[in-house]
Amino acid sequence: MKTNLTRRSFLKTGSLGAVGGALGVATATSAAGATAKKGDAGTPAIIGGTPAHKGGWPRWPHWDGADDPQIADVMKKGVWSRAKLVTEFENQWAKTIGNKFALAVVNGTNALSAAFMELDVGPGDEVIISPYTFSATIFGVLYQKAIPVFADIDPTTYQIDPEKIRAKITPRTKAILPVHICGFPSDMENIMKIAREHKLFVVEDCCQAHLSAINGRNVGTFGNAGCFSFQTSKVLPIGEGGAITTDDAGFKDRLYSYHNYGYASSIAPGTYASTIHSFRLGNKIRMAEYQAAIGLIQLKKLESQHRTRNENGTWLRAKLAEIPGIKPVRLYEGVNSVSYYMCPFIYDARAFKGLPRDKFVKALAAEGVSVTPGYPNDPLYTQGLLRETLSSTVYRKLYPSAELDFEKYKERNHCPKLIETFQTSVWLSSTNMFLGSKQDMADIVDAVWKIHRHAEKLNKG
Ligand SMILES: *Cc1c(COP(=O)(O)O)cnc(C)c1O
Repeated sequence: MKTNLTRRSFLKTGSLGAVGGALGVATATSAAGATAKKGDAGTPAIIGGTPAHKGGWPRWPHWDGADDPQIADVMKKGVWSRAKLVTEFENQWAKTIGNKFALAVVNGTNALSAAFMELDVGPGDEVIISPYTFSATIFGVLYQKAIPVFADIDPTTYQIDPEKIRAKITPRTKAILPVHICGFPSDMENIMKIAREHKLFVVEDCCQAHLSAINGRNVGTFGNAGCFSFQTSKVLPIGEGGAITTDDAGFKDRLYSYHNYGYASSIAPGTYASTIHSFRLGNKIRMAEYQAAIGLIQLKKLESQHRTRNENGTWLRAKLAEIPGIKPVRLYEGVNSVSYYMCPFIYDARAFKGLPRDKFVKALAAEGVSVTPGYPNDPLYTQGLLRETLSSTVYRKLYPSAELDFEKYKERNHCPKLIETFQTSVWLSSTNMFLGSKQDMADIVDAVWKIHRHAEKLNKG
């Protein structure tokens, strides 16, 4: 980066250029094979064969025109700010997940930051976090001026490794932040055991893990708070939206107050009186009525969509496991339900005649499969977000400079298994694809076999 780059232009461009989408990764569904000739089904589409899958995939987000009048009705009534529908959505969401309470908010990012605010995480505290995620997971920790500490993942499950969490605990550790990445549950039993032993809060990042469950118990019900996102790409899409689930009535009251200007939690949004004041520090992160109306409509479809994804996911994972060099990520014991936001597997180039992972992904996309290599190669703890925040004036007022030394911070947080995963992961975009038919799933399997058979040729090409 040029040293004379102004703050403004930096803010405009960032240091890595434009990155699109909530995940920071783009979905590559290539139409490269669309012009291929017939009768060459055995040839990979990327070198002129017919794509294994044609005709696209179920659209996402899914919207049934029959639902339009319900939304129009909300708009006509003119009650647009938080009222009955948001409360109804919260009640249904709490029930769906299995928590006593749910608070609807504007998005998953703010669900997470509200949780850290109201758990009183603050300067001097350390929060142990899964590094296999993107920036939104850690914003809330940084708003509270606490220090993110990354504990490496288990590369066979992609989830934060409980043993690595143990190794990172210090007297300053205040909370653990597991991320159920791709919708595959973290090892909550062991994480909660560690939390109980050391009296730590647990905030679950469930933004990708709606209805993911261990022994029939949904993620989001294990920790002090479960934070969900309803952004369009997620399996319960509202466009924007989020929720925090909890069983703690006091915590829920504080969150409610926070999300409505710091007013008393008994004050219904939209009430105005000279006696109403912000009696504590709050924010304004309320969900709107029309968002809740969309959420209630989507919620009706979620369970059947979830069932279809799990049927397809279970079948596909077993079939992919039969292909040399393909290893679907492992589920922890007791996991009986996965959101299938993504369906990741580990790619071993050695079994594909040395065909690099990125070439494999391109070839698979050409077959009509919606696939990405997953998160980009640079870990969160090396990115500008942490470099800038740790060197900020505010952090320098709060911490000794030795603790903020970025080179040392990167060394302390280095996660070798994460780096290995960045280089070998393949993510199938399963939110929409796994709503397809058995034949669609078979097409995906055929596509991978085809690439396997022609790996040597593809590697030369
Ligand atoms: C989507 C997502 C978030 C943020 O949710 P938004 O609703 O987009 O703010 C946080 N963490 C993870 C893991 C996510 O996938």
